[in-house]
Amino acid sequence: MDADRLRLIADTLQRVYRTPRWRSHGDPVSELVATVLSQHTTDVNTERAFASLRACLPEWNDVATAPTSLVAAAIKSGGLANIKAPRIQAILRRIHDLRGSYALDHLATLGVGDARRWLASLPGVGPKTASCVLLFSLGRPAFPVDTHVHRVIRRLGLAPASASPELVQDAVERAVGPDRDALYRLHLDLIRHGRAVCRALHPRCEACILSEHCEEYARRREASAIGTA
Ligand code: SF4
Repeated sequence: MDADRLRLIADTLQRVYRTPRWRSHGDPVSELVATVLSQHTTDVNTERAFASLRACLPEWNDVATAPTSLVAAAIKSGGLANIKAPRIQAILRRIHDLRGSYALDHLATLGVGDARRWLASLPGVGPKTASCVLLFSLGRPAFPVDTHVHRVIRRLGLAPASASPELVQDAVERAVGPDRDALYRLHLDLIRHGRAVCRALHPRCEACILSEHCEEYARRREASAIGTA
């Protein structure tokens, strides 16, 4: 990945979205559970489901040992409760089996790669969720690649169209280096841009501040020029 080009794009996005510097989103287990809850739903529903879960079952041990139907009822507002409830319980039980508690403080002392591998060894936890915990909670220089980030990075031509989310993650982390704030801002800016402008089905290229840096835009312009010739 071209680090200079990535920096130019990151600076352009930051001028528009003005994402503030990193701040911790909370303890790592809360972030892990919230990230599972956030799958296939909105931020508002995620927050609602998380608050409801904490109100119904205030201790992580309560969540791990409760009947799954009770956990599912508590997180109903987040959608897919019958899938997410057993997943959350399996994660919590595994953490307790491995660590003897529900604390994940040891992750702060591991390298980012080792910490990500440890988290990704938990049931149903992939590299994106692991990177969310490392970046948002622990302030480690990890780069989560969700569907928006993955799409925008490849359309821009910063990574090949065939690049997997893990490949994009590794390439961005190498290009940016251990700059937590830069990774945090880039991640959030790309999500905002992907939701508002570089949408999956109908990207608003005419309104896009990145069009002059974008390979997909150049391709579309060339195709339309050929079409009208
Ligand atoms: S120019 Fe179009 S394809 Fe490129 S980043 Fe902007 S919206 Fe996405």
